[in-house]
Amino acid sequence: MKVVVVVGGVGGARFLQGVKRALGLPGPEHEVTAIVNTGDDVWLHGLRICPDLDTCMYTLGEGIDTERGWGRTEETWTVKDELAAYGAGSEWFGLGDKDIATHLIRTRMLRAGYPLSAVTEALCARWQPGVTLLPMSDDRVETHVVVDDPDTGERRAIHFQEWWIRHHAALPAHSIVPVGAEEATPAPGVLDAVAEADVVLLAPSNPVVSVGTVLTVPGVRDALAKTEAKVVGVSPIIDDRPVRGMADACLSAIGVATTAEAVGRHYGSRREDGLLDGWLVQTGDPATVPGVEVRAVPLLMSDVDATAGMVLAAFDLAGVTK
Ligand code: GDP
Ligand code: CA
Repeated sequence: MKVVVVVGGVGGARFLQGVKRALGLPGPEHEVTAIVNTGDDVWLHGLRICPDLDTCMYTLGEGIDTERGWGRTEETWTVKDELAAYGAGSEWFGLGDKDIATHLIRTRMLRAGYPLSAVTEALCARWQPGVTLLPMSDDRVETHVVVDDPDTGERRAIHFQEWWIRHHAALPAHSIVPVGAEEATPAPGVLDAVAEADVVLLAPSNPVVSVGTVLTVPGVRDALAKTEAKVVGVSPIIDDRPVRGMADACLSAIGVATTAEAVGRHYGSRREDGLLDGWLVQTGDPATVPGVEVRAVPLLMSDVDATAGMVLAAFDLAGVTK
C-alpha cells in the first residue's frame, strides 16, 4: 500500500509513528511518503534550520527529545550560550549543540548546490526514518505573520518562528503569509506520490501553518483534488482546543473557529473544491461537514499504539485495508 501523509512538526511526527506501527513497518510491502511543511524554515547565524523536517527525522529515527517533542535527546546548549554572550540575537530560538551539526551539514550541502530534497535524503541516511520525508518544496518559502509591533505599534511582518516562539503567538495576527509560496514548485516526488497514492492522510498538524502551508505550494491542491486515492483528515482540535501549542491563534487569524467541525469545513469536501473525503474527530466532538464522511474515534496520540489505532480508523474511513 502507498500512503501519503501531509505533516508539520511534532503532531505530524507522532502521527507518522502511528502510520508506521499500523502498517507494521519496517517491512517491504508498504511505502509511506510524508510531505513536510518547510514554511517554518529559518536562516539563523548563517544556518538553514528546518524545524518540521528535523522533528520528523529525529522522531522517526529515535533521536528526538521526547519530553520537549523537538530537538535532540541529551542535548547541550554551549553554542547557544556563547552566541548569547556575544549578543548575537535570536536568543529565543532553541539551537542545541547536537542539532547544530544537522544544520551545518544541511547548510554546507545547500551552499554546494544540492536541493533541500537531496539534502534531506542525505541526512535521513543516518536517521533511517522508515518513511520517505519530502520537503513540500525545494524553494524558499517562509511563513510570516503580520502583527502590530509591541514596541512601536507599527504594523509589520515578522518571521513565523519569532511570532510562535518569542511571542508565544500572543501578539494578535492580522494575517499569516507564506512568503515565496506563489513562485514555489513542489519538490521532486511530491506530485507523483499524491497521484500514485492508495490513500492520503492529513495529519492532525496545525491546519494553518503546517498543512495549510503545504497546500499553498502551487500544484499540491490540484494533485490532491485529482488523485484516485481517498483523502482523510485527522482533527488536531479536541474539545474545542488544540491538544498542544497555539493553533487557535493561527485559526483565529484566518477567521476559523477552534473546533473540529470548523477545521473540517475549512478543509472542505472534495466534491465542492475542498480536500476531504473523510474527517476523523474525537469521540464526543460534534461535527457535520457537508459532503464529507465524519467519524468519531479517540484521537489522543498518548502512545504509538493509540496513534496506530487512529491511523487504522483513517484507513477504514478511506475504505483501504493494509
Ligand atoms: P508543529 O509543526 O511542531 O507545531 O506540529 P504540527 O503542526 O505537526 O502539529 C501541531 C498540532 O498537533 C497541534 O495543533 C495539536 O493540536 C496537534 N496535536 C498534538 N498532539 C495531538 C494529539 O495527541 N491528538 C491530536 N488529535 N492532535 C494533536
Ligand atoms: Ca512547525
